[in-house]
Amino acid sequence: MSNVHELNFLKEKIQGLKDQGVYRELPVLEGPNEAESMLNGKKVINLSSNNYLGFANHPKLKKAAIEAVEKYGVGSGAVRTIVGNMDIHEELDRKLAEFKREEAVMTFQSGFNCNAGTIQAITEKGDLIISDELNHASIIDGARLSKADKTIYKHADMNSLESVLKENKDKYRNMLIITDGVFSMDGDIAPLPEIVELAEKYGAMTYVDDAHGSGVLGESGRGTVDHFGLHGRIDFTIGTLSKAIGVVGGYVAGKKTMRDWLSHRGRPLLFSTSLPPAAVGAITEAINTLMSTTEYTDRLWDNAKYFKEQISKLGFDIGNSETPITPVIIGDEAKTMEFSKNLIDNGVFVSAIVFPTVPKGTGRLRCMVTAGHTKDQLDRAVEAFKKVGEEMNIL
Ligand SMILES: *Cc1c(COP(=O)(O)O)cnc(C)c1O
Repeated sequence: MSNVHELNFLKEKIQGLKDQGVYRELPVLEGPNEAESMLNGKKVINLSSNNYLGFANHPKLKKAAIEAVEKYGVGSGAVRTIVGNMDIHEELDRKLAEFKREEAVMTFQSGFNCNAGTIQAITEKGDLIISDELNHASIIDGARLSKADKTIYKHADMNSLESVLKENKDKYRNMLIITDGVFSMDGDIAPLPEIVELAEKYGAMTYVDDAHGSGVLGESGRGTVDHFGLHGRIDFTIGTLSKAIGVVGGYVAGKKTMRDWLSHRGRPLLFSTSLPPAAVGAITEAINTLMSTTEYTDRLWDNAKYFKEQISKLGFDIGNSETPITPVIIGDEAKTMEFSKNLIDNGVFVSAIVFPTVPKGTGRLRCMVTAGHTKDQLDRAVEAFKKVGEEMNIL
């Protein structure tokens, strides 16, 4: 009989990944996340981070983090509901609410656990969660923690959403429509004005996870809701502080009632220690910066437009992205992994995104352009794509 502690059941699965050509080691970044970074001992142009605005290693944010450490220490010492709720956490919630132009904000330790905590707190048995089929894993996991029934609608398809709403409107107490604001693997924007209209018509609530819209879309990065001018008409807007904002954390913006309830039933707030002071200090500085200048978001969009033009001119399929996320779709999983490996050999790091993160047969190199890239770096990246594409007979 085999010994279970040898983990043979996992070894078999790992062998399966190897057989499919999708096994990989974790890449190791040696130094800060920058437009050009040291990765696995090699200097590469970094087209893989979510550091949209170049804030992850920004001197002003670092200074604010150090000052917060000097004043408040390295840890908050408890969950928010005990004594881990410092005045800087409260100030950050207020500042984010002002930035997002909403009544109130509750900040969590990550975007992932903001979804895990919020969805289950605002739904219960007798409710229906209606989710876009391409929603992020943290929404799927968050919905799994809820006792509500769950269903999906076809990606961004308003006929599909309407038929789900129509069919279920009399069967449930509340219906909650959940969508990514920006879809992280394709870079397309959810049709929020139409979603809101349908939600209002059928009396459903709306929940937008704007992880990739925060700091990117709208006035100075206020997000997808601001981009469409829908303030006050989305019930729950999730943002992350780990991507464009450059630090770590997540939040939900909406009504004060929402915040009051989450402070009692948002389980990650009750059972996991709050953000460390360094993170809070740096995030606060990032939001202050966005509220005083559009310099960073302007540069991000300039770079994104430039890169997308150059890549599509070469003849690559870049899908339907409307944001700086630029998927270069290769298709086959193993080929996508090979393309990524060849790019590294040519000094460019773009991670391959394959099943199960995206549907089978839609493997892609997901290029993330940031405000921190120079035109020269983008040109060199495009050149590497051309070379590898030709060598692999894709172009
Ligand atoms: C990245 C992401 C998250 C998770 O955010 P973290 O702050 O990194 O935990 C949640 N939702 C979406 C749509 C994301 O893209």
